[in-house]
Amino acid sequence: MRGAATVGRVNESWSARTRAILAGRPDAGDGNPANAPLVPASALGLEYSREVGTPTWAAFEEAVGALEGGTATAYASGMATATAVLDLLPAGATIAVPVYSYAGTRGAFDHAQERGKLTVRRIEPTDTDAWIAAAGEVDVLWLESPTNPTLDVMDLDAILRAAGSGDRKPLTVVDNTFATPIGQQPLGMGADVVVHSVTKFIGGHSDLLLGVAVTARDDLSTSLREARTRTGTTPGALEAWLALRGLRTLGVRLAEASKTASLLAERLAAHPAVVRVRYPGSGAMVSFDLADADAAERLCANLKLIHNATSLGGVESTIERRAHLPGDSHVPAGLLRLSVGLEDPEDLWRDVSAVLDG
Ligand SMILES: *Cc1c(COP(=O)(O)O)cnc(C)c1O
Repeated sequence: MRGAATVGRVNESWSARTRAILAGRPDAGDGNPANAPLVPASALGLEYSREVGTPTWAAFEEAVGALEGGTATAYASGMATATAVLDLLPAGATIAVPVYSYAGTRGAFDHAQERGKLTVRRIEPTDTDAWIAAAGEVDVLWLESPTNPTLDVMDLDAILRAAGSGDRKPLTVVDNTFATPIGQQPLGMGADVVVHSVTKFIGGHSDLLLGVAVTARDDLSTSLREARTRTGTTPGALEAWLALRGLRTLGVRLAEASKTASLLAERLAAHPAVVRVRYPGSGAMVSFDLADADAAERLCANLKLIHNATSLGGVESTIERRAHLPGDSHVPAGLLRLSVGLEDPEDLWRDVSAVLDG
């Protein structure tokens, strides 16, 4: 890509945390900036940035690609990324989607189905046998693990192995937003495409919308770039720059938030007001069920520290009762999705337990 001010400085032996800090930086050298520059430009000479990208997008893409093990293409949001993937599918394609998964992507697939463009099949996230059977019958497996907001863990290894070894070879896409590229790298398990809502953990500061798709297949990488050009789902310069800055601290943010999340999950599980805790054992998301919608809304309304707000993955903890959204009305009414931030764990627990005890 023209104007890409970065070089491949990633050593194969480095861990994801180290890669997140060093990938996508300009060449070290006298006079070179330490960080990729913020370049707001629609044209680069005779080339147009919607088609060729910009040095800021390229730096961000290089860094995410180095973490996931493929070539990355950045988009305006997580939904813009899903739109670009949808743009690659032939009319009438059949897509298998988890019953519980991000409401926005499920909504987009339903919308396409209502217009005759797509046939959607819904599968329980943890019904691995049903996923393996679907791998022989559908054109696309859209996987998400852990799922938003139920935190179900799908058996990605088994499903991707079945998809790759059968005759049909459906396109396999993994929404890796909740695990983050540090938590798991699905391309290494055989996924064709990994997508992220960069808005969440990679950005990490609730100050941007951005998405990214990563693939190790050259044909798909070319198609995903072309889809961005065609659909105009291009990222903003500032957003790509901020997301790269956010990515630098993903490792420490995730490690710290995971420690706090596992402590909170343990204490929530021991509290008599909590019906069920959904915690996959690592990561910064904890969902838990209270008796009903009223109890859940009461908790949200009385917290002093944790924001009752949508979205997730920021340095500040946020909580939301998801069943209030039309797209998530099928999740338990008392289910709360807690995104654990970087506050003092004891402050967070005092905030939650004061209301639960009352
Ligand atoms: C938020 C989210 C998306 C959509 O991303 P946007 O950046 O909001 O467009 C997709 N998948 C998951 C799992 C999400 O949490």
